[in-house]
This record gives sequence, structure tokens and C-alpha cells, in this order.
Amino acid sequence: MPIATINPATGETLQTFESLTQSQLDDKLELAANTFRTYRRTSFAEREALMLRAAEALEADKSRLAQLMAIEMGKPIKGAVQEIEKCALVCRYYAEMAKRHLADQVVETNATRSYVHFQPIGPVLAVMPWNFPFWQVFRFAAPALMAGNVGLLKHASNVPQCALAIERIFQQAGFPDGAFQTLLIGSDLVESVIGDRRVTAATLTGSEPAGRSVASIAGKQIKKTVLELGGSDPFIVMPSANMDEAVTTAVKARTINSGQSCIAAKRFIVSTDVYPEFERRFVEEMKALRVGDPLKDSTDVGPLATEQILTDVDTQVRTSVAAGALVLCGGNRLERAGNFYEPTVLANIPADSPVSCEEVFGPVAMLFRARTIDDAIEMANSTNFGLGASAWTKDPQEQSRFIEELEAGCVFINGMVASDPRLPFGGIKNSGYGRELGEFGIREFVNIKTVWINEQQTGQSDRTE
Ligand code: NAP
Repeated sequence: MPIATINPATGETLQTFESLTQSQLDDKLELAANTFRTYRRTSFAEREALMLRAAEALEADKSRLAQLMAIEMGKPIKGAVQEIEKCALVCRYYAEMAKRHLADQVVETNATRSYVHFQPIGPVLAVMPWNFPFWQVFRFAAPALMAGNVGLLKHASNVPQCALAIERIFQQAGFPDGAFQTLLIGSDLVESVIGDRRVTAATLTGSEPAGRSVASIAGKQIKKTVLELGGSDPFIVMPSANMDEAVTTAVKARTINSGQSCIAAKRFIVSTDVYPEFERRFVEEMKALRVGDPLKDSTDVGPLATEQILTDVDTQVRTSVAAGALVLCGGNRLERAGNFYEPTVLANIPADSPVSCEEVFGPVAMLFRARTIDDAIEMANSTNFGLGASAWTKDPQEQSRFIEELEAGCVFINGMVASDPRLPFGGIKNSGYGRELGEFGIREFVNIKTVWINEQQTGQSDRTE
């Protein structure tokens, strides 16, 4: 894939970039290793001041940064501005909380004193996706840098300007050279970076195949990884749900970021008692969405990020319809320049069709009917993914069953699945392993060192005369 800015709303190539040469890459890895030697010894107070300046730099430049997202991957501008604000929030959260999350923890044992001590581990490579081009990076970088590690970013090839802008934010904030570097490289060079002795660990947010590849490369090198992969989140609606809120949230949960979110609700599993009403109202609201120019404030759904994604979504829908799925609205790409796809709702979906088994990365919702709560839970869990799940019910017993029985990294009751700097985020099954955010996130890339001290008494026998 070329490293280039190709405007997904027009198809126009705006700028292309050369990949780093091997020797440029080597210089950056050397700088990262050298910077780590001194940066690891900075205090939490020093890092806190730098991270707060990064938050300020983001806030000061949020409209330009949001526009970069819109022209590189088509994010509607309203959501793009909110994304930058959320990045500032995660910087502030870890600036304040890192010292608490990484404070020594005393553990009573037979030693005079024993405790757990957290230390940074070195340069960490982050392989990141284009869909939340700032947020994905900041939710890795803020805890990593606050823990005393240094960061190396291999961003998706279609968002090079966002990648360079992120590096500049950390420079503007005053972080030392080499504390955070963007590596403009293709995925073919990821293996050599992970294999490099100066790189300690890797985190990948992206697709399942990319996750398998990075995990196996790192596994051979015995290097720690965190994987944040795809999802096919269920959104379950039970008879007692508040239907107004459930329908409106369902539309937002499916079409946020033009449907290209790992935690977008993708499979809507609705009790047969309320199915007809939910279907009617959901389809109406999906049809009312405004598809168009991501730079306009009024746009709800922008173009898909690349032509390949548009082709993939179109093929998944067409193949599923040929296998028997029913189109309730949409179902086509728009006849205009750019990668636009109609908000689409499908029902009567055959179990083995692509939209049922695969992640659909576009504004396409699948509706399913559940006769009982057992049915709903079984359908929700009948996927290889396990990222998030949302369930709508006022019944406390049903709520408890969803919390206990849904196979996912998070369960949201009467709300939309969303990340929050204070709460851990991550998946199970093929959605990955490890956690980002909260106190669990900052402890992924640290040495959890056990310290055991036996104070020896100074007595007669120890004295040397
Ligand atoms: P992708 O194709 O897997 O790309 C993600 C990153 O991995 C890019 O930087 C890409 O570089 C790199 N990459 C791709 N193949 C690789 C390989 N074999 N070895 C090493 N690196 C490789 O995913 P995407 O299309 O950008 O993003 C969409 C996917 O990300 C969806 O599945 C979505 O659900 C998932 N996602 C998950 C989360 C989460 O938190 N769980 C969040 C957001 C997105 P190039 O661009 O150069 O190919």
C-alpha cells in the first residue's frame, strides 16, 4: 500500500510520501534507545508537565487536526473535533493518574519489607489503524510515555499526515527528541522493527490477520504484545427497553465514524415482542441520515476510508443478499465520486453469510429476532469476536445474565459501547488480548518487579573488630 493522502470523498491523491530507508529507520531506533536511557529516569512530575502541554497543543490546534482526519480518512468533522478533544482528555487523565497507578504496592510477606515496583521497559512499537487516527495513538502513547517508555509509531499508510502531526504534538509539548517518533514505513518493515534488539514490545490495533502476523513475529522474539483487533458487537433489545433511547442509540452505535469502528454495534438482536416496532423505527432513522462531504457540519455519514473498504462492504452485502438476506434500506454504493455507501439495514440473514460471520466495516446493520433471553445470548456469542456488547433491558435479572454470560471485553447495559480513559478497554476471543486505558492499560508495558528485603539486624556477631 502506498504511503499517501488520498481524499476518500473525491478519490484525489493529495500527497505521497517515501518510506524510510533502512539507514533512516536504524537512526530512529538508535535515537529511541538512547532517549530511553535518560527519559526513563525523569520523574512523574516532569512527565506530567510535558503531557499536559501535549493536551494543550491538541486543544489549540483541534480544527486543523480534525480537517486532516477528514481529508485523509473521511471522518465527518463533528466526530473529528470530538476525537481530538478526547485525546487531550486521555493525556490529562494519565498526566494526573500515572503516579497513582504505578505507585509501589506493599505486600505483607515473611520479609521485613516486600512490595511491587513498576518500571518502564523501553521503546514500544505501536502499529495503528486509520479509523481513529489520533485517538488510537494517544490511548497508547499517553500511558506509555507517562510510564517512562518511549514510543515508535507505524501508522496506517493512508494517514501519513495525521501520523506526522502526532509526532509534532509531542515535540511541541517539549518531550525529548526520540521520546515519540513516527516511522513512515509500510507493513513489510514491521517484522524488522519488532525483531530489532532495541525494540522491547509491540502493540497492534487493527485487523485479525495483522494481529496474527505481529503476534507471531513478536512471539518468536519473546516480546510482549497487546492486540486490539476487530469486533462484531451485539446490541440486544429486550421487551422492557426504553424504545426511544434504544432506537436512537442503535443508529448512532452502528454509524459512528461512518460505520468503521471496532466497537460499532453490528448485530442487532431484538426480542420478537418488540421486533416489529424496533425494525420500523430503526429503518426510518437509518434512512434519514445525511451522507456526504465530511467537511460539512451537517454530515452524519462520510465516505468509507479507502476504495478497498468500499469494495469489501459492497461484496459482503451482495453475497449475503444472494444467499437470502433481505434489504430493508440501502444496499448500494452511491453513484458519485468518492467511497460513499448507503446506510443499509439487512434482515432474514442466513447464518453462514458474510455479514453474519465477518466484521462489516461500513454503515450496514444486521437485524436478528430472539424468542427468549437464552436465544439472544446464544446469538450474541455465536461469533469468533469478543470485543463489546450492549444490552437494553430494565429487568435486573436479565441485566445480571447479560453481564455474566456475554462473551466480550465489556458489557454496557442501556448504553452504547464506548471507550473511556478511566475504564479498561480490550477484547477476548479473536478480538485480541491485553487492555488499554485505565490502570490496567498503563501496566501492560512495565516491568512488574517484585522487591523482597530482609533487613539484617546489626548485632554482636556482625561486628568486625
Ligand atoms: P489493518 O489493515 O490490520 O491495519 C492496521 C495497521 O496494521 C496498519 O498500520 C497496517 O499498515 C498494519 N498492518 C497491516 N497488515 C500488517 C501485517 N501483516 N504486519 C504488520 N502490520 C500490518 O486494519 P485497518 O484496516 O487499518 O483497521 C481496521 C481494523 O482495525 C478493523 O478490523 C477494526 O475492527 C480494527 N480496530 C480495532 C480496534 C480495537 O481497539 N480493538 C480499534 C480500531 C480498529 P498498512 O496501512 O501499511 O497496511
